[in-house]
Amino acid sequence: MGEEPRMQKRKRPRTCVGCGEESPKRALLRVIRTPEGEIKYDPTGRANGRGAYLCSCRECVMLAKKKKALSRSLKTEVSGDVYETLLTLCSDENREA
Ligand SMILES: [Zn+2]
Repeated sequence: MGEEPRMQKRKRPRTCVGCGEESPKRALLRVIRTPEGEIKYDPTGRANGRGAYLCSCRECVMLAKKKKALSRSLKTEVSGDVYETLLTLCSDENREA
């Protein structure tokens, strides 16, 4: 009882700003803009601030960089350093494809 399989906002999938595909939140890299205006990777997925999500693959990070997708999503300038950091976090070696 009380466990209705409803699509509520609890486990809503997040959209990758690179490819636009939805994935479970835990499969994505979360980038936030802190209240101080700092852009950083959020390993906890719970830090305060406006968040944007990217698949954990170089392809999506590069795509996002090209489209300036993080800048647009976070509504602030995102430096190349941020993308560089994300690239180092990508788990491409885990990809089956
Ligand atoms: Zn993606």
